[in-house]
Amino acid sequence: MLELTTPVQYVKGVGPKLGEILATKGIATVGDLLYYMPFRYEDRLNPRGIAELRPGEMATVIGEVRNSGLFRTRKMPIFQLTVGQGRSRLKCLWFNATYLQDKFKAGELIALYGKVEEDKNGELQIIQPQFEMLGDAGDGAEDKAAASLEVGRIVPIYESAGQGRVTARWFRRVIRKALDDLTPEIAETIPAAVRERLALVSPREALWKVHWPEPGESFEDLQSSRTPAHVRLIFEELFFIELGLELKRRQQKAETGIAFRTDDRVRQAIKKILPFHPTAAQKRVLKEIAEDMQKPHPMRRLLQGDVGSGKTIVSFQAAIIAIENGYQVALMAPTEILAQQHYFSARRILENAGYRIVLLTGSLESDRKREIRRHIAQGNAQLVIGTHALLEEKVEFAKPGLVIVDEQHRFGVLQRLKLMKKSGESSDDGPASQGRTAEGGRSHTSLAEPDVLVMTATPIPRTLALTLYGDLDISVLDELPPGRTPIVTRRITDDRSPEVWDFVRKQVLKGNQAYVVYPVIAESEETELKAAIKMYRELSGKIFADLKVGLLHGRLDSDLKDQVMRMFQKGELQILVATTVIEVGVDVSNASVMVIEHSERFGLAQLHQLRGRIGRGAAKSYCILMTGGKVTEEGDRRLDAMTRTNDGFQIAELDLELRGPGEFFGTRQAGMPNFRVANLIRDRQLLELAKREAAAVMAGPNSEVTQVEISRALVALRTRWQRTYGLVEVG
Ligand code: ADP
Ligand code: MG
Repeated sequence: MLELTTPVQYVKGVGPKLGEILATKGIATVGDLLYYMPFRYEDRLNPRGIAELRPGEMATVIGEVRNSGLFRTRKMPIFQLTVGQGRSRLKCLWFNATYLQDKFKAGELIALYGKVEEDKNGELQIIQPQFEMLGDAGDGAEDKAAASLEVGRIVPIYESAGQGRVTARWFRRVIRKALDDLTPEIAETIPAAVRERLALVSPREALWKVHWPEPGESFEDLQSSRTPAHVRLIFEELFFIELGLELKRRQQKAETGIAFRTDDRVRQAIKKILPFHPTAAQKRVLKEIAEDMQKPHPMRRLLQGDVGSGKTIVSFQAAIIAIENGYQVALMAPTEILAQQHYFSARRILENAGYRIVLLTGSLESDRKREIRRHIAQGNAQLVIGTHALLEEKVEFAKPGLVIVDEQHRFGVLQRLKLMKKSGESSDDGPASQGRTAEGGRSHTSLAEPDVLVMTATPIPRTLALTLYGDLDISVLDELPPGRTPIVTRRITDDRSPEVWDFVRKQVLKGNQAYVVYPVIAESEETELKAAIKMYRELSGKIFADLKVGLLHGRLDSDLKDQVMRMFQKGELQILVATTVIEVGVDVSNASVMVIEHSERFGLAQLHQLRGRIGRGAAKSYCILMTGGKVTEEGDRRLDAMTRTNDGFQIAELDLELRGPGEFFGTRQAGMPNFRVANLIRDRQLLELAKREAAAVMAGPNSEVTQVEISRALVALRTRWQRTYGLVEVG
């Protein structure tokens, strides 16, 4: 008998060697194997007759190999296969496929899947179909049994593994074996009330039916993962994610935090710094934050808002609440430029009011760093601004009250979790603080956890926010400050660059400033950087020889970066040629033109962030997306979206759709949970359901859920989170 936890190599037909290949796919146990979902199905119960095929359709065809052979054209060798059913024939072609030469024997049964097309003589063909040999037509009993896995039913298709050594057909066999030998007792971990409400089938039934669909099952439901079996498995996965997040939330809420006072004096202090009237959204969000800060539990709040919606001032107001209560605030930015920028605005807005602000970045001289660290440790510094290096710099706060994380979307959730731990550790009983106590150093007298406010530079579609930030409360700034004129965005091919430069010149001569952005997307990319520098020479030396042009890229040393930014800010530079280092946060309201070269190479979120650098002042702003060379279909959709809308939420939704959740957050490292069954785009609604149900379960025990059911779910949760998401300390 196999258990779900049995190592996969013990499934008949797997063994240690293939077990290793499976491990590369993340399949280590029988459970992993059974949760390895088919990515599509083929209807081999009712395969299509060749005679009834229509051009344009995707079809599964089962037929007999008639003949095959390689012929050469001037361009490349082409392999041709003819498959027959009685008198009908279908032609299949593969380009450059010499490896297929001896693959097919006349008379063998074959299943094909692909798009039916008409060749130039009006004959039907399928180009590069997927195929599976079904063995030859009249065979022994054993082959017949094996063949019954492949024909006469709806057949699951799996992604192969190990460079094709482990095929879909192989998966079908071992999965069938695993199902046959599977213990009848698979524990039900979802509470009964939830199962009943959603009419969920049992895990055993679900696993059987996704791999072995019943004859009456709707083919469309199978393809779209909407059969009861699919729904059960998808819901289960999402439910345990949401349950884990809900648990974290509750634990955080139960911790001891700082109950900040927000009396009249504090309120006056907050009002005093405002250089403008806050928008209604800013007022609402500040209220949400202030209410959180007053509670005796740590705040864990995410502040979302489109670029330019005015998050900075809100975060400064939150900082004042903490400072006026006698606590220190740390503000962390993802890049040094942005940290610097925050430092300048903080000084502009807060220093007059007498607050003491320091900037601590990695590039400072070590003497200076030491001095600043001392200020922080002694409690002189009230607002500490830095990059995430703040975490590594062994900075000790005398009295940490609030951590503000200005996060760009690349800076992912795992890092964030770590960071919160770190900020928590200072008041923990963990080894770190024991060390400090032994030193006789500053003891963190209270056990209170500092509050945490995370700000995102990119709006996050709700589905992602629910999973990635499900443990945070969310505030949204959904209103732009008044007086902004919408940015006009246009696409233009780069053979028309002279017109573009003329336009830039006109705008600059009117007193506006302009960015010209080059696609040096990874600052390590040598050739891209060279191209950008070359263009800078061209622009500064020839095209705009009479104007003041600066260059900013990630490899400049930070003093120089600083200087360039400051000159641009003061208007001493009229045009700034830059790489994507300006993507985040840079705020120069007189800049009203942005030209993005090779805009087809940028991601959608990145384009939106870049564009967010303009349109910040009263002048009408223009974003010109230049394209050079061929633009892919997806690139087309990205650029079109940019010309169509300025709304960050719409753009984020589309970006998520185009790239999928894994890519949306940049790297895998960004901490996107790796789903086995669920798909955040397809399964949005199930995710919402899962969130609701998880919250209801955690609110128990009550008439709906028993303590036993909750405990059982929590045990299952722990195993899942540890294995699948590597997110440990839950519960
Ligand atoms: P983001 O949300 O992208 O961080 P910022 O906080 O940088 O946006 O704000 C963008 C610009 O809008 C800044 O120049 C800021 O001073 C200005 N701003 C913010 N709030 C208001 C407001 N209520 N009225 C007028 N200008 C505002
Ligand atoms: Mg900002």
